[in-house]
Amino acid sequence: MDRVTIFGAGHVGATTAFYLAISAGLEIAMVDIEAGKARGLAMDIEQALPFTGSSSHIEGGPDYGLVEGSDLVVVTAGFARMPGMSRTDLTQRNAPIISDICREVAKKAPEAVLLVVTNPLDEMTYVAWQASGFEHSRVMGMAGVLDTSRFVYFLHRLAGLEPRDVNTMVLGSHGDEMAPLVDWSKAADRPLSEVLEADALAGVVQRTRDGGAEIVGHLGAGSAYYAPAVSISTMALAILGDTGRVLPVSAYLSGQYGVEGIFLGVPAALGREGVREILELPLSEQELAGLQDAASRVSRRVSGLGADRR
Ligand code: NAD
Repeated sequence: MDRVTIFGAGHVGATTAFYLAISAGLEIAMVDIEAGKARGLAMDIEQALPFTGSSSHIEGGPDYGLVEGSDLVVVTAGFARMPGMSRTDLTQRNAPIISDICREVAKKAPEAVLLVVTNPLDEMTYVAWQASGFEHSRVMGMAGVLDTSRFVYFLHRLAGLEPRDVNTMVLGSHGDEMAPLVDWSKAADRPLSEVLEADALAGVVQRTRDGGAEIVGHLGAGSAYYAPAVSISTMALAILGDTGRVLPVSAYLSGQYGVEGIFLGVPAALGREGVREILELPLSEQELAGLQDAASRVSRRVSGLGADRR
């Protein structure tokens, strides 16, 4: 049975454990500095399984040693951005947490694939790569699957397109720096510009960019977790199942799309070794410019991190 360890038994971590436990037969460990939360939620999830037919086992606790023997490690530990907090503040709070966890992962699960979720995503994925010392193909971050899921949702709700007919991807970084592939995408094999008015399409793109913030606005405290959990699980199942599925993933770029030395959302084929291959799609000039603009912003922030490679 494959072993998955999830660091952080908070909203995103616990929901991911729940969805994964039902979706496949897995050994799952949840590790959180709040010992009771990790133990209690692990018991709750396991007690949900008898009527589902799932053979998964879940354990939880504060001991980083639970990661031993893991095939996949999902990192959701840390803080979400709170009102008044800058991206730099968030980086300073979360980078040491991600570093500690990933150094321990490198010692106890040296063959694992690392999937980072903690924000700011592309920076924390870079920190995880540095702290673990893993080859870059075994480190990746989740944001693009969630952003793509939201884009498809808004294309459906605001523009009436059937989700199963839409072939699209959101690349780049999270939030303002996301790069939805408006020109490359198709709905029932037709360009989006042929099935939607320009204003409607622009509205969908903006609503997608604001998708996370809109939910935060409703919740008051905390951020989204159901759609993130399903997005993480979609990646996890592609990795563990060695499917080669192509998903938008924060992956290390070494020249693809003219970008080098950072993690950024691009289409990648996933398998048990992590990122098998990064696909270079024929993007329009505008799409490529959006991706490269996100890349230069991420590069600037990453150069200020000063993270040492293990
Ligand atoms: P949360 O506060 O509900 O959970 C975070 C958990 O991390 C808490 O239980 C906390 O005790 C734990 N934790 C803190 N330090 C730890 C450590 N050193 N070891 C183990 N556990 C530790 O937050 P959440 O809503 O689950 O979000 C978690 C992170 O995921 C945030 O940074 C959030 O911004 C991010 N997020 C990213 C995406 C994405 O698309 N990449 C989507 C949603 C959330």
